[in-house]
Amino acid sequence: MKRKGLLSTFAFLLAAPGAFAQQVRIGVLGLFHPREITLGAAEGEAIVVTAAGQVFVLEPGVRVATARIEVAGPGLLLQFNGRLVHADEMHAAGRNQQAVGFLVGIPGKISRKYQGTLSVRAINGEAVPVVTMDLETAVASVVAAELTKDTPLEALKAQAIVTRSYFLAGKGRHQDFDFCDTTHCQFLREPPRAESPPAVATVATRSLFIAHGEKPITAMFTGSCGGHTRTLAEVGVSPGNYPYYSVVCDVCYKSPVRWTRKFSEQEAAQLLGKGEAGRLAVDRHLGWDAVPSNNYTAREQEGVVILEGVGQGHGIGLCQRGARAMAQAGASFREIVSHYFPNTTLSNLNTSMAF
Ligand SMILES: [Zn+2]
Ligand SMILES: [Zn+2]
Repeated sequence: MKRKGLLSTFAFLLAAPGAFAQQVRIGVLGLFHPREITLGAAEGEAIVVTAAGQVFVLEPGVRVATARIEVAGPGLLLQFNGRLVHADEMHAAGRNQQAVGFLVGIPGKISRKYQGTLSVRAINGEAVPVVTMDLETAVASVVAAELTKDTPLEALKAQAIVTRSYFLAGKGRHQDFDFCDTTHCQFLREPPRAESPPAVATVATRSLFIAHGEKPITAMFTGSCGGHTRTLAEVGVSPGNYPYYSVVCDVCYKSPVRWTRKFSEQEAAQLLGKGEAGRLAVDRHLGWDAVPSNNYTAREQEGVVILEGVGQGHGIGLCQRGARAMAQAGASFREIVSHYFPNTTLSNLNTSMAF
């Protein structure tokens, strides 16, 4: 019943009168570099798979309801119920080519549920699944992945607006889809249940985005800011259509999240003086939390470089820890958004002239 509830909510969103049916294409599970994936039915609906002009139907509740898709030469090999098809690309959708709930798995590693339509291609020897989903489904999925269940509702709403703005303005970092599902773009997992706080926060702020000069901004967010948020120039990121401002964040100013790390001189050379790009390069190499933020001091001691820093993430835009504290103190989502994004307005997709 819970799953049905989710479906009916998002179906309602799509059917809402006047709603602008924005969609986003998310490249999923790329972190695993899969050569083989599985596709299965979820939610009690049939999935229609098309590949090389052939059609397969994955019926829910039937024992063999999973298709296997693997990289074969320059293309894909699709296996379903004893049938084999070679294809450059495959698509999956509901019976009327509509969005549908489905499971994408990587054997032995992960299985994740999505709501939308799916296409898979082989690119550089990897199977690349791309889910085209309704903007609001994508927003709810990011809010659920980003913030813990005990986050106050107004902070979840602020995150939903930031996430929606990013989806509207931040395309162009990938060639084969609009966004990936890692923190490179925005962390995205499964859509939350309809009655869950992330879904409620998404519905409550439906279509709202942060605008600067009437256009949506590529709104950024950070785990905690260390006392004040940072400008793009401070961290060596080139400005987009919004310059960002350094604003004081009370909770982080009074008690910043502190961290200490030790590096070899060689590792430190990759990092020091190179801003956010240097931090991300080291994190890619040594793990995502190797250098938690770019707000630190460095000193050398007996051949080791010791970094002492504050904050988590790049420090730009919405501070998630600060938003949580503001919401706990009674601030509304509008107050939270306008605090971290000065000189912006909240616009609505349904009435904005920018689209
Ligand atoms: Zn990305
Ligand atoms: Zn903060």
